[in-house]
Amino acid sequence: MRRSVILRRRPAHAPGPEHFELVESAVPQPGPGEVVTRTIWLSLDPNMRGRLSERKSYAAPVALGEALTGEGIGEVVASADPGFAVGEIVLGSRTWETHCVTPGLRLVKLPRDGAPLSTYLGVLGMPGTTAYSGLKDIGRPQAGETLVVSAASGAVGQVAGQIAQRAGARVVGIAGGPEKCVWVQEALGFDACVDHRMPHLSQALADACPHGIDVYFENVGGAVQAAVFPLLNTFGRMVMCGMVAQYNDPSPPPGPNLMSVVGKRLHIEGLIVSDKPERFSEWRELATPWVLDGSLKYRETVVVGLDNAVDALANLLHGGNFGKMLVRVGADIQSAIA
Ligand code: NDP
Repeated sequence: MRRSVILRRRPAHAPGPEHFELVESAVPQPGPGEVVTRTIWLSLDPNMRGRLSERKSYAAPVALGEALTGEGIGEVVASADPGFAVGEIVLGSRTWETHCVTPGLRLVKLPRDGAPLSTYLGVLGMPGTTAYSGLKDIGRPQAGETLVVSAASGAVGQVAGQIAQRAGARVVGIAGGPEKCVWVQEALGFDACVDHRMPHLSQALADACPHGIDVYFENVGGAVQAAVFPLLNTFGRMVMCGMVAQYNDPSPPPGPNLMSVVGKRLHIEGLIVSDKPERFSEWRELATPWVLDGSLKYRETVVVGLDNAVDALANLLHGGNFGKMLVRVGADIQSAIA
């Protein structure tokens, strides 16, 4: 018989057994192009919480009455896809069932004699790749920089910290409880690990990061994010990977919700114009012809006389200007010529 975990009710807060049902049915036969596998490993990932609700998310929700879905590893027990033979080991998205029917083209074969099979769902799989991708494309830790990673003992966090160590960064983990913190420091060799369940998190983190934070790998959100944010250095990078602390909340806390940065892959970057002085002449050269031919429109509010400058400044801060606010102190040469 096949056993399946079916979603019966959508949890409003934390999911529990009351939301699911275990049902039995006959082991199915594969249709054309399909493969039946017996499940060996199922991966549990925080993003699965999103699939249990109908809230808009980057992952499609599981329908009520359907088996949950997630990544897993199985052994082929029947195949109607010529590319797969009985006994082969495969990785892919699968349902929470002892036996799964999957189109062969969605499966990837794994070596029987490679790394331990479970690692293809963890350090060598999606979580490890998430850490690698986030640091290669966004975090870019450099030798001598300080990188902080939250959920540091978790699937993504443990890999992210070790990649940063290999880049020569000083790595500080944040984890829940002394056992995890000791493991992060002693087994992983991170330079420090702060327990987010202890009081005075902000001070403890500041003490662990005397030169501030250059890269923050965000897995958690909430109070941890609030403690990290003020310590970020100029030109710091924040890898927005996830905010697991709020996944069980029925609605996000008030104010901007940085989880949108993950779901919408937002790119948010600060700017100080003087950082790239070459842009001044570049822009002037580009835009002068547009100003002269009238195709680049602009508007100015001109206040006349130095005596009125202070009032004008106050007005500017209250929206009293319309376009660029200027004070004409002396006669304008061009209007004088005109
Ligand atoms: P983990 O193995 O890190 O497990 C989750 C951990 O989160 C827990 O062990 C716990 O660690 C921590 N946590 C849970 N609740 C809280 C809380 N309220 N405050 C602080 N910490 C909390 O999971 P993963 O490594 O698989 O995932 C980590 C993050 O990465 C998640 O946010 C996940 O959604 C995200 N992710 C994003 C991906 C992407 O493509 N963007 C892909 C994969 C994962 P502790 O006890 O140490 O606090």
